[in-house]
Amino acid sequence: MKVIVIGAGIMGVTLATLAKELAPELDITILERLDGPGAGNSWVFNNAGTGHEANCELNYTPVDGEVISVEKALKIHAQFNVAKQFWAYLVEKGAIKDPTTFINQTKHCTLVSESFIEELALRHKEMSGHHFFEDMRYSDDFDEIKSWIPYTMEGRPRHEKMAATVIETGTDVNFGSLTEQMAEYAARDLGVAIEYGVHVKRAHRSPAGSWLLETERNGTATQYKADVLFVGAGGGAFQLLKRSHLPFARRFAGFPVGGRFLQAPVTPEQADQYRAKTYGRAEVGAPPMSVPHLDLRVANGQHYLLFGPFASFKPVLEKGRGFIDYLRSMRLHDIPGLLSVAIENFPLVKYLVSETFKGEQSMLDSLEKFAPGLGDKFNWQAVEAGQRVQIIKDGDLQMGTEIIVSSDKTYGTLLGASPGASVSPEVMLRALEQLMPARLNTEKARSKLKAIFPEDNLEILANDAERYREIRDGVNQSLGIV
Ligand SMILES: Cc1cc2nc3c(=O)[nH]c(=O)nc-3n(C[C@H](O)[C@H](O)[C@H](O)COP(=O)(O)OP(=O)(O)OC[C@H]3O[C@@H](n4cnc5c(N)ncnc54)[C@H](O)[C@@H]3O)c2cc1C
Repeated sequence: MKVIVIGAGIMGVTLATLAKELAPELDITILERLDGPGAGNSWVFNNAGTGHEANCELNYTPVDGEVISVEKALKIHAQFNVAKQFWAYLVEKGAIKDPTTFINQTKHCTLVSESFIEELALRHKEMSGHHFFEDMRYSDDFDEIKSWIPYTMEGRPRHEKMAATVIETGTDVNFGSLTEQMAEYAARDLGVAIEYGVHVKRAHRSPAGSWLLETERNGTATQYKADVLFVGAGGGAFQLLKRSHLPFARRFAGFPVGGRFLQAPVTPEQADQYRAKTYGRAEVGAPPMSVPHLDLRVANGQHYLLFGPFASFKPVLEKGRGFIDYLRSMRLHDIPGLLSVAIENFPLVKYLVSETFKGEQSMLDSLEKFAPGLGDKFNWQAVEAGQRVQIIKDGDLQMGTEIIVSSDKTYGTLLGASPGASVSPEVMLRALEQLMPARLNTEKARSKLKAIFPEDNLEILANDAERYREIRDGVNQSLGIV
């Protein structure tokens, strides 16, 4: 069976690697328009590199009055555990030699000011009662918080009331490096073919039922043929879906949101003083993807602080592509849906437009509020982040991701942007289960699945504390998380 994957980002490369591990007989080719793997949104500074497991992100635990909902947090935590199982497998079998090249232990903290202290205390009470978050600690003691996350507290007056939670075993993940190393392994040891510089322009069915891909490489048109197609093209997936003549394509459109960060290089000694990612609260009316956070990042052994993201209105499908590509990805029937989303979400649109015109000084002012005095301590620069394309489905704006598989199981795609790369192995496993159930149901595939994922059942991880702890401790050890 010939499988073509479009896009060598973390999603496409994970799907291809996992598929070849489980069903080595598959003939898989990845087509990527850029010159290498992991260079789109998965690249280290196009995203914030948080290993999202709901340790610190307030938007995963919405509060209504005195009731806090933790369902989303539990699901994301379990999905991240499944992701770590896959990455630990790659490290244990030597596919990736050194885990610190892509994953580094980093405290995950939440920091709030006086008016949200009660809410954070409630969050801590609810969450620390569950085995996923049993090691979460809470404090409203100035000095204790300062000992956890000095850079956010050093410049604050002592009378300012703050509260924070911490989990010591959070992570910073360089998804770009992970994708590169996984792509190298998939090509070298598993026989996945990867072709770079190939831009897929459209996909359509041949009369015989296979997928025909029209592509362009260095200005030359070429065709590829596939029995099964998986589009893991990030924001580019919307354009391809629109050009695939699938009936459900009409139901989807893309809502693009750009982003920027402030970035500063720091010395290893300065990094040692702040091994953390600290998440605050999003401003009223701001979308969840603009929750401010101050992160220690590691890239190629060098340390950086990153603050942001600052969301913006940027109508492009992917960073580096033009407005025309976005316009071309739209169909006339998408326009009423887009307009109604813009009207229904007017505060969001207004917020994004106003953020677009924020200069570097105003970004530094936001940093000053979050971590007083830090703006002057380091040499900050505004850098452009990756581009998110949120899903508009049946006229409704959605913030999550969705796997879509055609009824004949020959076309699959991933749309949307969050929680994204952190949960990629779990999401790609589900995509494969939907796309090729028979291939995954053989004796061999089932036993390989168990070798890769000792426990991929999210319900069991959430309900069986002993099983979860046994798996967590095993994978953490392989990944250098103590
Ligand atoms: C500002 C920001 C912050 C983020 N922070 C985090 C975070 O902290 N933690 C986290 O887990 N996630 C985060 N994310 C999300 C994360 O970056 C994405 O979920 C992830 O990178 C998506 O991977 P992907 O493979 O789908 O897309 P990409 O990495 O963008 O890969 C898609 C690939 O497809 C290729 N492609 C596109 N169209 C075509 C075509 N027509 N033909 C051939 N190739 C094509 C592209 O060149 C690209 O290489 C963040 C995203 C943004 C924008």
